[in-house]
Amino acid sequence: MIANEALERLAACLRSETAGCHFALTDGWLAAGALLAAIAIFYAGRSLLRAATTLPALALLPACSRWLAHRVKARDYGEEEFLRADGAAEPWVQLRKQALDRLATFLRGQNQRSIAWANGVRESFSDLRFTDANRVPFPFVRVMREKFDLCSVVTASQGPKLRTLDGQLTLDVSGSYGVNVAGFDRYKSWIERGWSLVKELGPVLGPLHPIVAENIRMLKTISGLDEVSFHMSGTEAVMAAVRMARFNTRRKYIVCFSGAYHGWWDGVQPGLGSERPLEDCLTLKDVNPASLAVIRRRAREIAAVLVNPVQSFHPNSPPPNDAVLLTSDVRKTEDSTARYKLWLEQLRAVCSEGGVPLIFDEVYTGFRLAPGGAQEYFGVRADMVVYGKTVAGGMPIGAVCGKKALMRRFDPAHPMRIAYVVGTFSAHPAVMGAMNEFLRWVSAPDAAGLYEESNRRCSDWVRSTNQALADAALPLRVVNLATVWTVLFKEPSRYNWLLQYYLRAEGVILSWVGTGRCLSSMDFSAEDYRDLQSKLVGAARKMKADAWWLTASEYPGREQAMRHRLVKEMLGSLVQPPRPLQTFYAEVMQRKQDDHHASHSNAVNQFFHLLSSSVFIYCYVLAFADLTTAMCLGLAALFVRQCGHAILEPPCHDKEKLLLGYNTRNKTLIVLGYVLIPVIQLAQGGVWTLAALGALIPTIAQQWFFWTLLVVLGRVAYLLWKYDFRISMIWFIKLVTDPLTDIVAYFPRWPQRA
Ligand code: PMP
Repeated sequence: MIANEALERLAACLRSETAGCHFALTDGWLAAGALLAAIAIFYAGRSLLRAATTLPALALLPACSRWLAHRVKARDYGEEEFLRADGAAEPWVQLRKQALDRLATFLRGQNQRSIAWANGVRESFSDLRFTDANRVPFPFVRVMREKFDLCSVVTASQGPKLRTLDGQLTLDVSGSYGVNVAGFDRYKSWIERGWSLVKELGPVLGPLHPIVAENIRMLKTISGLDEVSFHMSGTEAVMAAVRMARFNTRRKYIVCFSGAYHGWWDGVQPGLGSERPLEDCLTLKDVNPASLAVIRRRAREIAAVLVNPVQSFHPNSPPPNDAVLLTSDVRKTEDSTARYKLWLEQLRAVCSEGGVPLIFDEVYTGFRLAPGGAQEYFGVRADMVVYGKTVAGGMPIGAVCGKKALMRRFDPAHPMRIAYVVGTFSAHPAVMGAMNEFLRWVSAPDAAGLYEESNRRCSDWVRSTNQALADAALPLRVVNLATVWTVLFKEPSRYNWLLQYYLRAEGVILSWVGTGRCLSSMDFSAEDYRDLQSKLVGAARKMKADAWWLTASEYPGREQAMRHRLVKEMLGSLVQPPRPLQTFYAEVMQRKQDDHHASHSNAVNQFFHLLSSSVFIYCYVLAFADLTTAMCLGLAALFVRQCGHAILEPPCHDKEKLLLGYNTRNKTLIVLGYVLIPVIQLAQGGVWTLAALGALIPTIAQQWFFWTLLVVLGRVAYLLWKYDFRISMIWFIKLVTDPLTDIVAYFPRWPQRA
């Protein structure tokens, strides 16, 4: 009403009618309300539009894996399930059982002191319990822990070899999580010489040792950036870089790419591994034009784009870990150096265009791919670079290099605005000393040659190892990015992760992610590489001989069977019925199994069951529409089924006594009942012709149906009286579902367990 009047007055003014054109007090309120509503609609619309246009670039995997993490329930295989996880037949299972016990006995014998040490600290050392739990896919963990209990406890390094607490020399391909680029002996001397440079000062923090200036100078030259900031770990340095980017751009969002790891800070962990909802981090698809479009469109909201260049090896996938090796397809790599270079160039251009800082997290790639890290390797410059791992010559470190405008931690225009980013151990003299040694080594003219040589040797090893694996018809291959390499599995298997343990028995030490990410260092000599190749091929040969990798001819239908089991298990762990229902189901299935073993071994009998079961299922449905035909067909199928038993497997009937069903005498009486019904009907009519029988069929079918009900319910009542309700229901459910499970059990293509 008020609004109408106001509109009329407004219209009069617009028509220049002096009579109606005047303003009331309410008009002001109405105008203010309308303005506010328009602003609210504008902002809501803009947010909606942003969300809608960002959607095509958003990575779904992190969100889905978080969703799943809350729903997938714990499941531990028992030993039998462990050995049959892929549904392989009995002879293979026996072979595996012996092999697993043999391997466990061997490794236990070889690592007695290490195992005793680990058992002494495991319960008090949560870091060890975490890495231990993440070695193998979770259903296999219990059996592996019971049998193996392994832990790497080492006391000395000699070139790329580590001496274990039990005195063996093992070849290390864990690379100390990426720290070991140049070889342990170099780090030992850097730490020693570095300490001698600063030892007069000792662990003084706050006041700075003069050597810091030289480190800053070298880091600026290598990174090509203006300023440096020191931290204690890669994670801490990533946190510092992100905070400084937000502070200096006054923007909210950080763009990360799907699968990329940036340390354990939950501000950059959108997927598995953290539960904090990330409202200020957009996780986009890696190497994808839709992501470029989002960065371009939302540039004014984005504080920085954070890239981990090791993702060029496996864009959009999390760091490869044996614990997720549920199938062989889980692990993939890409020979994407050229493609990734192009992607980084495009990203660089879009960031420059929109004024968005580009941060390279080079904690892993810096000083591993090349002396100048990924910036040099891919030929793309970032606005900030985060280093860690090897840059302090073997000491703990995180460092941020960046452009001046991004490294400020105070606002010259607003003195109260500061970014409080500082740590006690920043520029620790011992760290700075070793860093000085490393940086001088890596800045020397011959470093580039050492990197090239080391990368080339690793690539040569990969080529010759793949040849050896192919010659031995082994289902695995290796791929590398510089000195980072991974094992790929070429045939479907659920046991690929076991390779870690076979490698361990050959004397190779892997990190807790297993065969997913392995590293070579510069001190790997030609002989070490030969040794590594023979250990890898040897371990794989043994694994194959022990039946963990069955070929398609050894196990026909393996892929389908594995997929089927995995889906079933996944669904089973997502939707878990209540415990009593689970045990009830297990008992029904056990009875079915007993029944199969008692009297269903003959192939023709199995075929008769397949046939009759198919007809029964059809009759279950048909009975609702046409009871007469359903009963006739059903009885014919029952006849075929019982003939199979009576003629083809009569001796097995003795075993039936142990089961819940009818014995042969009772079955004969039931069949007699079915025969008597038409006889009585015909006798009542007094006409013994086929035509008379035809006319009576609907009535006969109805009585057959009631006779079936009586027989079945009578048995239920009998079992209830003799045992209890549960047993009677087990029999009833088994009977009703037998046609379905018989088809599964006797279908010719279905893999049979012996
Ligand atoms: N960023 C990247 C790319 C890394 O690889 C890592 C460690 N693997 C980190 C950050 C975290 O470093 P730190 O473990 O020293 O905290």
